[in-house]
Amino acid sequence: MLSDTEGGATISKAAIENATKVVDVDINGGWEIGQPVPYSSLAHVFGLIEATSKRLEITSILTSFLLLVIKRSKEGDRSSLLQSVYLCINKLCPDYQGLELGIGESLLIKAIAESTGRKMDAIKTDLKDVGDLGLVAKNSKNSQRTLFKPKSLTIPFVFSQLTEIAKTAGHSSQNKKISIITKLLAACSATTDEAKYIIRSLEGKLRIGLAERTLIVSLAHALVLRDQEKAGPAKSKESLALKLERGAQALKSVYSELPSYDHVIPVLLRVGIEGLKEKCKLTPGIPLKPMLAKPTKAIGEVLDRFEEKRFTCEYKYDGERAQVHRLEDGTIRVFSRNSEDMSAKYPDIYEQLPKAIQSNTTSFVLDSEAVAFDRTTMKLLPFQELSRRKRKDVKIEDIKVWVCLFGFDLLYLNGEPLLHKTLAERRTHLHQHFQEVPGEFMFAKSSDSETTEEIQAFLEESVKDGCEGLMVKMLETDASYYEPSRRSINWLKLKKDYLNGVGDSFDLVVVGGYYGKGKRTAVYGAFLLACYDSESETFQTICKIGTGFSEEALKTHTEALKGLEIDKCRSDVDAGGARPDIWFEPKMVWEVLAADLSLSPIYSAAKGTVDSRGISLRFPRFIRIRDDKNADDATGPEQIAEMYERQSLANKGPKKGAAEDDFW
Ligand code: AMP
Repeated sequence: MLSDTEGGATISKAAIENATKVVDVDINGGWEIGQPVPYSSLAHVFGLIEATSKRLEITSILTSFLLLVIKRSKEGDRSSLLQSVYLCINKLCPDYQGLELGIGESLLIKAIAESTGRKMDAIKTDLKDVGDLGLVAKNSKNSQRTLFKPKSLTIPFVFSQLTEIAKTAGHSSQNKKISIITKLLAACSATTDEAKYIIRSLEGKLRIGLAERTLIVSLAHALVLRDQEKAGPAKSKESLALKLERGAQALKSVYSELPSYDHVIPVLLRVGIEGLKEKCKLTPGIPLKPMLAKPTKAIGEVLDRFEEKRFTCEYKYDGERAQVHRLEDGTIRVFSRNSEDMSAKYPDIYEQLPKAIQSNTTSFVLDSEAVAFDRTTMKLLPFQELSRRKRKDVKIEDIKVWVCLFGFDLLYLNGEPLLHKTLAERRTHLHQHFQEVPGEFMFAKSSDSETTEEIQAFLEESVKDGCEGLMVKMLETDASYYEPSRRSINWLKLKKDYLNGVGDSFDLVVVGGYYGKGKRTAVYGAFLLACYDSESETFQTICKIGTGFSEEALKTHTEALKGLEIDKCRSDVDAGGARPDIWFEPKMVWEVLAADLSLSPIYSAAKGTVDSRGISLRFPRFIRIRDDKNADDATGPEQIAEMYERQSLANKGPKKGAAEDDFW
């Protein structure tokens, strides 16, 4: 290990070795400076990435490719790099703009049939055998004879067509989509993997094992290498490795404040990594990924962690995260935890909030929880009430369940980001620039209590008032800065369920179903659940859940899951030894509680982390559907492993939480 005294980075030997590793990623002699990047080059790079599972190797491959894209772009061209980056993570724009890929299988099969002249049934049979529609499309091209050579695909063309498909809606949109896909497929070369990756992109998942954080590291490395080439050879491998590491840290930090490549990449190309931090800051209108909390099992653990530090306990409200932005021009936008624009769901917030903003406030980013609220009794209502609301086109006159916004943090105020201020300072700003309007906008109830008894009493009070428990937060020093997109140990959640059972609930994806028995043959009687590993982009099975459902609930779940049935286990689901009667597209997320965790030879969750076996949930209980979460927001194997270890240690004695984070 090498230590960087200026930047605080620590570099491993492997990273130093990797610093000067250049991978030849060109095929067919590459492309000329100023020419559009051929899509076949990107498909080739995807193939190289898919063939390895080593993170450093993936980083080298992608860095080499992105560096070529930069070096072969004309002066002032930003879109070549921007579009390459988006295609690598299978996105078309920042999340908050809401344009997504994810075309249904049957439509894709139709398009493959039309473009290759094959029968749909034959394609379906191949799909059953191979399990990957991308590969089926590629193989279908191999067997197709073409009379003339179509024009080669380029990144700008593929990107524009994918965008067109994602934007196409309304009347006859299916036909329009099929026609664009058919043309794209017809232009794919049979000797490359173009068709395979275009189809996978359209499906909504590339499945090459490239996590977004690896892309960010590669992008930073490519820029550092570009600037190093301009400046002349580096002093040594070690000094270059340090620059690469610092560059990656800098870009990660900037991107967590301003998660928009549309904004970051043009600046990156213009000023390089060094000047980026100055120019790219949290900006109202662009949602940042919220800070999250770590679960704790007992109040003793809270005291362990915060011993001799100042901390605060806040009510953990049971609603929906709302990140509210006000731009300098007065526009207000509300974003969900997943950066979705929720403005159409909450017209009541628009009506209520202005009354809570003091006259000394121009622009802000407020972190808060929108909670269903009974205006007659002035009491909190459970999350289920809120989930009854429509997600779109809500009209103020139709609202039956009103929300009250509970503000707990202020991230930006009057033109200045506050992320690097202490929570105590941020909270003072919040109280000085907003005012309570009972039942409409209130400050999260807090208590800066210090003893176990005080925390216990406040926890019980929060539960009595209809909350989920407490959030315990560091108040002072840099440990209390706001950490976007992190599940941080500086925020701990203490839920009421900690009083018994495992403690925190799990958000799990339904990947399979088991037919019911006896009276229940018309419905599924049990379900196979999985967690999601964002590192390998796979769903890992964790338990079968079948108790605690009413007949009515089973009927509702069966109906909701009907549309997600698929013939085969999807290739990104690691089933382990589980064999359900039917497989589902991993889409639906359920919140589940369990009595405890145990090692299992059947399930694959967190396999290889604490043991060669996987971890499973014992006596899982269904709590509710989480339609505010996507499948890739499900609980990760690292959290499950941590809970398992915590549980084993709890039997031996107390343990302090280990540092770990979510996105990074
Ligand atoms: P969980 O979803 O269990 O990880 O809990 C974290 C969620 O609790 C956040 O995303 C918020 O939506 C919600 N929450 C409720 N009250 C608070 C609070 N006082 N501070 C932070 N988050 C809160």
